[in-house]
This record gives sequence, structure tokens and C-alpha cells, in this order.
Amino acid sequence: MPHKTLYTNDKQFDVIVCGAGHAGVEAALAASRIGASTLLLTGNIDTVAQMSCNPAIGGQAKGQIVREIDALGGEMAINTDVTGIQFRLLNESKGPAVQSPRAQCDKKAYQFRLKHTLELQPKLTLFQATVTGLIYRDGAVIGCRTNLDIEFKGRSVVVTTGTFLRGLMHIGQNKNEGGRLGDFSSKTLSASLMETGMELGRLKTGTPPRILGRSIDFGKMQEQKGDAHPTLFAFHDTRDPEDLFHVEQSGERRLGWAPGTEQVSCWMTHTTETTAEIVRANLHKSAMYSGEIAGVGPRYCPSIEDKFVRFADKPRHLLFLEPEGRSTNEYYVNGLSTSLPFDVQLDMVHSIPGLENAALLRPAYAVEYDFAPPTQLYPSLESKRIENLFLAGQINGTSGYEEAAGQGLVAGINAANKARGAAPIVLGRHESYIGVLIDDLVTKGTDEPYRMFTSRAEHRLLLNHGSAELRLAHHAATHKLIAASRLERIADKASRIDEWVQFLEANRYQGISWAAHVRKTGEGSPLPEDFIRETPQVRHEVMYRVAYQGYLERELRQVERLRNVEKIRIPSGIDYLAIPGLRRESAMKLSHIKPLTLGQASRMSGVNPTDISLLMVAIEAGRREGDPAA
Ligand SMILES: Cc1cc2nc3c(=O)[nH]c(=O)nc-3n(C[C@H](O)[C@H](O)[C@H](O)COP(=O)(O)OP(=O)(O)OC[C@H]3O[C@@H](n4cnc5c(N)ncnc54)[C@H](O)[C@@H]3O)c2cc1C
Repeated sequence: MPHKTLYTNDKQFDVIVCGAGHAGVEAALAASRIGASTLLLTGNIDTVAQMSCNPAIGGQAKGQIVREIDALGGEMAINTDVTGIQFRLLNESKGPAVQSPRAQCDKKAYQFRLKHTLELQPKLTLFQATVTGLIYRDGAVIGCRTNLDIEFKGRSVVVTTGTFLRGLMHIGQNKNEGGRLGDFSSKTLSASLMETGMELGRLKTGTPPRILGRSIDFGKMQEQKGDAHPTLFAFHDTRDPEDLFHVEQSGERRLGWAPGTEQVSCWMTHTTETTAEIVRANLHKSAMYSGEIAGVGPRYCPSIEDKFVRFADKPRHLLFLEPEGRSTNEYYVNGLSTSLPFDVQLDMVHSIPGLENAALLRPAYAVEYDFAPPTQLYPSLESKRIENLFLAGQINGTSGYEEAAGQGLVAGINAANKARGAAPIVLGRHESYIGVLIDDLVTKGTDEPYRMFTSRAEHRLLLNHGSAELRLAHHAATHKLIAASRLERIADKASRIDEWVQFLEANRYQGISWAAHVRKTGEGSPLPEDFIRETPQVRHEVMYRVAYQGYLERELRQVERLRNVEKIRIPSGIDYLAIPGLRRESAMKLSHIKPLTLGQASRMSGVNPTDISLLMVAIEAGRREGDPAA
């Protein structure tokens, strides 16, 4: 298509994505890769996929999300593998179900490689413009206005504006507008969303200072190296070699290096009694503590003020100096997020072993921003109020690159599907952490920045990171998210795994089955020669299934039982207040959230099993009477 038509006002895209952060880039790539003409608008194309906070991807439950993104054709996993500078498998001493890969990334390489991938992606147009408002007609969104006085039309619109909606940053009493330091604040988009009746709330998050490496005395710190055998995020064993970089066919010189090579170290230090005294003496100056900031902060990414107040008995808190990349001398101080005044930050940093003479390159700060309570969305991430409008990422109340990217992927697929009249993808809680994430958000909502934990997934035994591809292949096939050749390799891997599990269960060695040996002695058990020659991915999954066989079977029976409840759809026109015996409080909640199924209703906070039974009776009765709403 001649490029000039792309930017005329009458051009209509299938999908417009507003904001090229971690959610937006996944949404735009997903939509364009399944064939939708997609426009990705962002306020500054030099900050595409910027890591506003620590230069790391993965970690507890987040690593699982990243592998699921790969299983569904997303980009975060590959981008991390080839720009990662240190890889560690967390919880290695615990069971495989809760082990999570984590990587430090070269922050700029991560960003620039993703920008390059967007530029090379067919059917995707990346354009620098700030979205100032959405255009609506008859209860649906039809496009957006920009700061360039250019309007764009789209059949679906995905808003992925992160921490930018009326973003306001705080350093002590000092305030600056912006979604993050050095960036703009999206000031009018909130009003445009609210004019539709959409509710917005206020949240906050914080980030630590950045330190100049040559001012650090590493001799006073403990080195933390990467794993000798890195656990990567992408499923390299089922990818076509040329598919590795998705658009490598272009032959362009791409950023990135062989995954896991030339790993760098992080460094561990800790706060001291002096640090604690400085913080406690200045609490009243902290924006987070002085009541300056309206929003609710992230419980799971506490500021150093939080730590010294909530854990007053802990004499010290661990800190990690994380390199921001290969070609920079900048370090991120993980664990020292604060909104204290800058002079106090200096005293605080200089009280830490190894940082006595540290030079700060960037101050720590907190940012408060608007978010849209996610119970206003369907499980597809489409708005219940404005048709064809999808929201994904931090705007939905989450915190974290991975949580944002997982939502962005789903929203991008569903925006494209909606534009072309196809059914949405909805991931179940039993098959993915992304499914748990989205179901928690749209069913329970959140009143503080939500981050994923393995404990949030009741079926976590089924969600070990290595099985993501096997669990999600049917979705990838239905929505054509990955190459047919890769689907074939996944099917082949799945059948080899099944065959080996059956072989180990059915064949005996020294009087008992091979599987019994595994359950008795774990990794060190005797194993058939041929099995040892299998790929590590097949071996790990077989060993996991054999070792946890009893638990996995019980989980699968539980999922089967719940599946029936999950299938019972709730009629869209149901009047909860008219259901005999249903508590008014529950009826009000159900009317507000409008769950699609009995399963979703049963997971709502404040709705109890009695409510669900009464609802089931009402649905059945409606069906018998031929109630059109049933
Ligand atoms: C100060 C700070 C501290 C943080 N601390 C943590 C932490 O400790 N742990 C953690 O997990 N996460 C943290 N985060 C959050 C993390 O950065 C986000 O979770 C993640 O980046 C969310 O991704 P996103 O795509 O939703 O939004 P973002 O990554 O914020 O991207 C939004 C994108 O939209 C663009 N944009 C915004 N408005 C418009 C508009 N109107 N028009 C066009 N483009 C627009 C922006 O330029 C940006 O590129 C922090 C973020 C900040 C800013």
C-alpha cells in the first residue's frame, strides 16, 4: 500500500494501539501478525518498550508469564533472551512448579531491538504522536485524535498508556508532570475516557536512584553471578531457526547476541542502622508518607520508607546493584525505591557499604497516575461500556512489564479478532498465569498495583514454566499466532513426552517401574539410556509429570469439575435483584461486574456458594420458562 494513504484522515486501520510500552508493543505485534492492519501511536518512538524501572524481565510468576507470551507468539521472551546479560532460575531449590526464570537485560538493547522489530513488522505502522482523545460514535470507539491535529480511524482501539495518564512525579515536596522522569504526562486522555462514563482511580509506584558504576566500591559488596546453564524464556527447541527473530528474513543487522553468553554480575549490599535513622528522621518529607500522593502504592514493591516502617525490627534490608547494560556505567539499586527529597537520598545512599562515595546519575522518585478499575472490562479486555475499546497494561491497575505484556498480547489479538468478526481468545485459570491475571483483574478488580505471584494461581502445579507451549498450543493454532511448522514441532514434542511418561510408568527396572524410581529418588534416579539422550526440554517435562503424577491427576480432576460450572453462561439481561433469596449486597456486585459465567461469578469477592446456588436455580428456571434473557 502506498505509504501516503496511511496518514490521510480517511484511512481506516483494523487496530490502533495507543502507547508503545510493554503492553502496546505486544498488542501491536500480535494484531499485525494475525493480519490486521495496525497503527501503533506513541508519544516518543525513542522510548518504545522502555524499562521505566529495573532492567530485568521475569522472576517469581513473571517468568512463567513471559514463557506463555512466547507460546502465544509474543516478543518479550525472544527479546529478553537475545538482549539478556545475566540469567538466573529463581526458587531452584523448590519444586519445578514455582521455579521462575529471571534475566537482567541491557536496557537500551532491549528497547532498540523491539523498536527495530516493530519497524520491520509487515502490516504494522509505527508513528510518533500523542493521543489526546478518543473518537466515539453510537457507543463505540472509531478512532483517536492526536497532538498533531491528525485524526486516525480504527475498527478497534487498544489503550496502553501505562503510568502516563495525568502522571505526576514526586521527589519530596518537588513535583513534575510526567509518566516517568524525562517523559510527558498524558493529560487529556483521562477526560476523554471519563466522558464515556468510564471510572478512573489513582495509583502510585516508585523507583530507586541510578548510580555511576565507577563511584561504587564493589570490594565491599558480594558478587552475584548468572547461572552457568541459563534458563531461557523462548522455546528455542520448537522454533524454525530463521523464525528465531521473527523478522530476521529482512537480513537487517539486528541488535542482540547469542542467549546466555558473556554474562555480567550483580552485586549485593545492604542498608545499615544509619540508613534507617536517616529514613526515619525524614519520613515526614517523603511524598509517599506525607500524604502528598493520592494513589495507593505497590504493596509488593515497597519503598525503603515502607520497609523501615513495616519491618521495623529488621536491622538491614538487602540491596542489589544491577548493571543497566553492556555499554553503560549506570547501575540500578534494586530495593531502594523512595520519594524522599534528593538531599536525603544522597545521605541515605552514602550510608550503604560500597556506596559511601556514590555519584547519582538519576534521582529516585514516585509517580502517581490514573488507572481504570479493570472490572469495567470483559475477559477479552474489551470495555463493557464502549464497544471496540480495549485496555491493557498498567492502565488496568497492574505493575510490571510482564503483566503488561501478557495483557497487551491478549488485547491485541482480541482487538484484531473484533475488527474482523472473529471470536476472542480467553485464557483459562487452569492453563495459564495470563489467564489468572486477567480473570483476577476483570472479576475481582484491584485497588492497589497488582503483581503476579505463584500463590495467586490455584492450579499452579499445572502451570510450570516449561509446559507453557504444550498448554497453549491449541490457542496458538486457533488464532494462528505461531507458524504451522512450529505447531508441528510442539505436537511432536507433546507426543514424545506422552510416550516417555507411559514407557517409564509401564516398564520395570530392578523390580519396580522406572517412574517409581523417579518418585523415590528424584533427579538422581536410574533412567533408560535412550531417555537420557532426549532433549532437555522433553526430559524436564517427563520428569516433572512422573514425579508429580498423583498431584497432577488430582489437579486435572478438580479442573474437570470446575469446567462444568465455567461452561454455564449467565444470561446478559438477568435481573439479579429479582432472584429470590439472593443477598442484596451480592446482587448489587453481580449487577456491577456482570460476570459472563457461573465460574466467574463464583470467583467474585463477596459472592458466596449460597449465592451461586441461588443463581444456578434462577438460570435453570429461566431456561425452563424459555426466558429470552436465559
Ligand atoms: C517510576 C516507575 C517505577 C516503577 N516501578 C516498578 C516496579 O518497581 N516494579 C514493576 O514491576 N514495575 C514498575 N514500574 C512499572 C512498569 O514500568 C510498568 O508496569 C510497565 O512499564 C507497564 O507497561 P505499560 O505498557 O502498561 O506502560 P508503560 O511501559 O508505561 O508504557 C506506556 C507507553 O505509552 C506511551 N503513552 C502514554 N500516553 C500516551 C498518549 N496519550 N499517546 C501516545 N502514547 C502514550 C508512553 O510514551 C509509553 O511508551 C514502574 C514504573 C515507573 C514509571
